[in-house]
Amino acid sequence: MTSSQQLHVVVVGGGIAGLSAAIFAARAGVEVTLLEAVSELGGRSRTRDEDGFRFNMGPHALYRNGPAAAVLNEIGVKPAGTAPELAGALAWCEGGLHTLPGGPLSLMTTSLIGARDKLTLGALLARFPKLDPTPWNGRSLTEFLKETFASARLRDVFAALVRLSSYANAPDAMSAGMAIAQVQGALGNGVIYLDGGWQSMVTLLGEAAEKAGVRIRSGVRVRAIEDPVSQSGRSLSVRLRDDTSIAADGVVLALGPGEASALVDGGTDPVLSQHAERSLPVRAACLDVGLSRLPSPKRTFALGIDESTYVSLHSRAAQGMTPGGGAIFQLARYLAPDEKPDRTEIEVQLERQLDAMQPGWRDVACAKKLLLDVRVAHALPTAEMGGLAGRPRVDALEATRPGLSLAGDWVGPTGWLVDAAFASGRDAGRAAAHRARQVRQDG
Ligand SMILES: Cc1cc2nc3c(=O)[nH]c(=O)nc-3n(C[C@H](O)[C@H](O)[C@H](O)COP(=O)(O)OP(=O)(O)OC[C@H]3O[C@@H](n4cnc5c(N)ncnc54)[C@H](O)[C@@H]3O)c2cc1C
Repeated sequence: MTSSQQLHVVVVGGGIAGLSAAIFAARAGVEVTLLEAVSELGGRSRTRDEDGFRFNMGPHALYRNGPAAAVLNEIGVKPAGTAPELAGALAWCEGGLHTLPGGPLSLMTTSLIGARDKLTLGALLARFPKLDPTPWNGRSLTEFLKETFASARLRDVFAALVRLSSYANAPDAMSAGMAIAQVQGALGNGVIYLDGGWQSMVTLLGEAAEKAGVRIRSGVRVRAIEDPVSQSGRSLSVRLRDDTSIAADGVVLALGPGEASALVDGGTDPVLSQHAERSLPVRAACLDVGLSRLPSPKRTFALGIDESTYVSLHSRAAQGMTPGGGAIFQLARYLAPDEKPDRTEIEVQLERQLDAMQPGWRDVACAKKLLLDVRVAHALPTAEMGGLAGRPRVDALEATRPGLSLAGDWVGPTGWLVDAAFASGRDAGRAAAHRARQVRQDG
């Protein structure tokens, strides 16, 4: 490589992590190529159009004022959206609907818990924002629930709030510190549902990447990361499925741990293979329902207490989601780690809850889509790994595979779900550009 040759970073994966990495690497002054296996960008943040109904890949809510918001702000884009109205939110328990206790009024009036539990929960909610999650990082949510609540019903209520704010239904394994921090974020800052679905955010990021000079190639699957082709002068070679290869000075793998591991040294890299084998994925079954009109405008949200379910009218807060006058309900069952979901059972369970909230919905249903088993996040921060701090860093491969950086919702010490994808993407993009420059100087 001549010293005048432009440094080149390749980003593999065009989800949120890959798009963020590409933008920050390009802004750091290197040439960037982003390779995405399928024809569209966005990965799990895509939105599909079903007869004019905009279905996200399951219920998606963006945390306000969290790491994702900070990175979006740095990039200079602001996806439009609105916070869902949670006054009137319901709890589904023992086959019936109750008021969900979230604030003083709902706590007083709910039939979900008795007087003594109301006092206990009220006291916890009052001191909860100031509770330090750190000492709980290495302990499980089950331990936290046992030590905090004498009442089994209150343990169920708090576990449901954890599922709502983290998607995780694995109390024995999950780090309690991470669970507490997620519930604090949800109760404190809240979330927004994005207008037009999460695809709007993907589109804004794609535009920002192009503006930063990123060369985007979709429909291009990477097969392996290899040693450099002789004479290229670059330090890495990215082999594509059609057997051609691209020379690079740095590569960001913005993929899941299993996908990333398969690309490096035939799956034998010790760091990647360990994460691929040991990570506990967070999964959900999701049912999206499009209605031509809303039978019962007041019942828009219900959280399962003794069942791990969620029902929310996303089109109430998010604009541009339906053909005129229509409505979109997103329903989900948070899956336990070893759960094998059954299509019929899931549909019956979720539709029964919609029957209770929206009697007559079946007569106005125009679109329906079930995603039986989707991976919401690649790796739950467990108590065993000490919570978020136990995740691999963006430069975790520096010792075994110099020049490779990692990004995704299982990487880095910051945030959960898309918050982690954004934060690790930004850090990996900057690190890849910085390292490529260092190698050039050393050489
Ligand atoms: C049902 C569901 C609900 C969710 N709800 C929320 C929520 O409410 N709030 C929240 O913050 N987050 C939520 N998430 C999580 C959020 O969607 C993800 O954290 C985020 O989209 C992950 O982005 P990523 O870039 O890390 O990974 P991905 O989106 O998985 O992107 C990886 C990309 O890499 C591509 N790829 C794979 N292999 C190759 C290859 N060999 N060559 C080239 N490209 C390749 C894939 O096609 C994909 O586009 C939810 C996820 C799901 C599934």
